Amino acid sequence: MPTCTALIVAAGRGSRFGGPLPKQYALLNGQPVLRRTVLAYRATPGIDAIRVVIAAGDEAHYEAATRGLELPHPVPGGVSRQQSVLKGLEALSGDAPDFVAVHDAARPFVRTEDIAACLAAAAAKGIDGAVLGVPLADTVKKTGSEGAIVETVPRVNLWRAQTPQIFRFAPLLAAHRAAASLAEADATALTDDAAVAERAGLKVVMVAGSDENLKITTAEDVARASAMETRTAFGFDVHGFGPGNAVMLCGVAIPHTQTLAGHSDADVALHALTDAVLGAIGAGDIGKHFPPSDPQWRGVSSDRFLRHAVDLLGARGGRILHLDLTLVCEAPRIGPHREAMISSIARIAAVSPDRVSVKATTTEGLGFTGRREGIAAQAVATVEIPRS
Ligand code: MG
Repeated sequence: MPTCTALIVAAGRGSRFGGPLPKQYALLNGQPVLRRTVLAYRATPGIDAIRVVIAAGDEAHYEAATRGLELPHPVPGGVSRQQSVLKGLEALSGDAPDFVAVHDAARPFVRTEDIAACLAAAAAKGIDGAVLGVPLADTVKKTGSEGAIVETVPRVNLWRAQTPQIFRFAPLLAAHRAAASLAEADATALTDDAAVAERAGLKVVMVAGSDENLKITTAEDVARASAMETRTAFGFDVHGFGPGNAVMLCGVAIPHTQTLAGHSDADVALHALTDAVLGAIGAGDIGKHFPPSDPQWRGVSSDRFLRHAVDLLGARGGRILHLDLTLVCEAPRIGPHREAMISSIARIAAVSPDRVSVKATTTEGLGFTGRREGIAAQAVATVEIPRS
């Protein structure tokens, strides 16, 4: 599989935005714009890593916006967008990916399927890059002095370019290095990465996206996108005991006289939580995303299942309000591990521990849990997502 790193450019100052914060750090439904953009990339299959370019002095804003996401250090940007992208590319060049997806932090509504389509187009034979965009629907006028129309420009084959703009890494880096030595006026004319690539003779194609992939420019854009609704959904899972000496619950290994059997690490608690979060966004169940028949999930740590569900929620502009878990078993005892379980869930779901609850009960010796044949877990996720 070729590798692809998302390079998210968040170094702009956004003079049209106003407000106390640069727009990429403004809150969209309680979530910084940059965070939502990062989560869209985290939820896209084929994106292996994410690196953000930020302006000097924005370190604290960046830290707050990406808390818990465990991203690598941000790259300090330059004075222009083009310089910022070049700095980002240079920072990636030591361990260069095959492809790089350059994306504006202020486009948080990008759909994961559009990113994937753009990556597939860039990876086609004989192509160097692909740009997400929308064919022009409006009639285009060119004006002269005093706003007088001098021409109606045929809109056939005209597009509005968005991001991502995804390229083979090495030729894009070479194109940006070449553009860096241009005179300022010539450099200013290159308003996106595709323009830099075109100048270097690279073959770049357009991929049809959607108008949803709006670039946040004004405070009204944020307000318009901020109506939220609350949803609650349920998850349930059971795993049976097998021979072993520890069980994995909530990502915490707990010594026991048996283990839980199953594909992955059989973390029944994280599986129930994953299904609850997926349920809240109507995204199917854990088996749809991570089929038990697929050998790549054998023995894997279940934290990635929950993280994926939370990323899908984040990519839709949602966030977890609360996670409530009930474990049903006679043994092991949960109480001594409750705090560790809460911290573990909070870390995986990137929420504060006061938004996580872990409870336990027995079934008074009744049923399969009472006979100590396995552990059941029930979870309820309460989330907030943009009103559809
Ligand atoms: Mg399971």
